Amino acid sequence: MNSLHWLTKTRAIFLFTLMLLTAFLIISWSSYEVARQSLNDEIEENTLPLTSDNVYSEIQQDLLKPIFISALMAHDTFVRDWVLVDREQDPAAMIRYLSEIDRRFDTIFSFFISDTTRRYYDPKRILETISEQEAKDRWYFQIKAMPDDKLYVIDARTDPEDHTHLDIFVNHKVRDYQGNFIGITGIGISIEKVKNLIEKYERRYNRTIYFIDKTGAVVLHGNAFKRPLNIRQQPGLGPLTTSILTVPGGGYQYQYQGKRVLLNTRLIPELDWYLMVEQSSHPMERVLYITLLKNLGIGIGVSALFLLFLWLTIGGYQRRLEYMATTDKLTGIMNRQAFEYGFQRLRASSPHDGGPLSLAIVDIDRFKQINDRYGHGVGDRVIQHIAQLIGGSLRRSDRVCRWGGDEFLILLTGCDGDEALRRLDALSQLIGQAEITVGNAVMQVTVSCGVAQHRAKEPLDALIDRADLALYQAKQQGRNQARKRDD
Ligand code: GH3
Ligand code: MG
Repeated sequence: MNSLHWLTKTRAIFLFTLMLLTAFLIISWSSYEVARQSLNDEIEENTLPLTSDNVYSEIQQDLLKPIFISALMAHDTFVRDWVLVDREQDPAAMIRYLSEIDRRFDTIFSFFISDTTRRYYDPKRILETISEQEAKDRWYFQIKAMPDDKLYVIDARTDPEDHTHLDIFVNHKVRDYQGNFIGITGIGISIEKVKNLIEKYERRYNRTIYFIDKTGAVVLHGNAFKRPLNIRQQPGLGPLTTSILTVPGGGYQYQYQGKRVLLNTRLIPELDWYLMVEQSSHPMERVLYITLLKNLGIGIGVSALFLLFLWLTIGGYQRRLEYMATTDKLTGIMNRQAFEYGFQRLRASSPHDGGPLSLAIVDIDRFKQINDRYGHGVGDRVIQHIAQLIGGSLRRSDRVCRWGGDEFLILLTGCDGDEALRRLDALSQLIGQAEITVGNAVMQVTVSCGVAQHRAKEPLDALIDRADLALYQAKQQGRNQARKRDD
């Protein structure tokens, strides 16, 4: 009976736990997801485009200035007249011009290459004469061969003074007054400068910033960039390449190394490059994650407290129910059901050992008269008194129950019929001599007792029947005594 209760209780509590935890989990997780989504939206719609705008405007300052300067040089009448009219007679004039450009505009390297003489002028000297056969000079002839409307080209190539060093060059075609190609002028700017700019922004905004050209090749990046040098080869990003390169800009998302990367792209038309600004983690994400863990912790804590409370409450109710189901309400001693159950258990657990077992029925003599004379309430008090007197005379191993009405059953363990008879005699004498006071009434009450020793395998009914017969005898023989039944 108990283990069944325990099982039901455990199952109920297990179900509650499951429900509570599931509810907490769903609530915490969904609010986490909502917060994360809105954070992502914020990054995608505001933060990334803003960074992109900032980088773009600084790039413009740093890259567009050389474009303007080289355009200015290409359209300068001095440059054109020096070639067309002076016929390059005074190289010093060109060298002075170039060094003046550097000084005036704070550029690091300006140059002019004449198509007639193929001489390469820099701000210090005639650097060299370029040749179509030289691989390092090939860029010149490529630019020259470009369509007429393509006025300038930006490329990165080794510094002509220091071949270990890469620079960005803005190369502008120079044309005579009729539009015929007469050379290339331009400005070189340090690639470091742009790299520094990228790194400054990467640090400040915790972003990854780089540039790609129209083929998807990564043309400029910060020092921390450790990825394939063409975005087509990069897992996650590769499949997006075509759509990135067909629009002037947009927002994208992809997975890279287990992380979700948010990407904002923007075409820089002057360079024909795309500015790529990426963000894979935001400091707020960590805060959100910690909040999620806290919420889950609180959820588990509250569930545990609630379940403890439930366990104790159910346990309390269970004990009360058990008490009610096994106890006689009037006297507080065992009731009939509990006694029968106890008897079965006793016999099941130790059928042979534990010594002899005896049963006694105690019945109050002429109890009806007490009821009639003093009323039912007084009768109740008397039953309680007798129960107390019986209880006080028992051994620890004995059991007593109210069998019904004015009758009690006593199970005497380790006690044969004779000893039981002696003990019941003593009990009936004790009760007979006791003065019972209820309200103003003082009365003496006697009991009759029937005793029988349990026989091997004898059912309770049969044992009670035999004790009842002994009781009948006691009543017959004048009450206030104990009798034993041996047959
Ligand atoms: P006897 O000596 O033969 O036992 O006579 P008796 O009057 O005691 O007769 P019996 O035992 O048959 O009657 C028991 C009476 O107890 C019957 C009933 O009115 C009364 N009774 C049963 N239960 C209760 C109870 O809970 N409270 C009270 N006050 N009386 C009860
Ligand atoms: Mg009676």
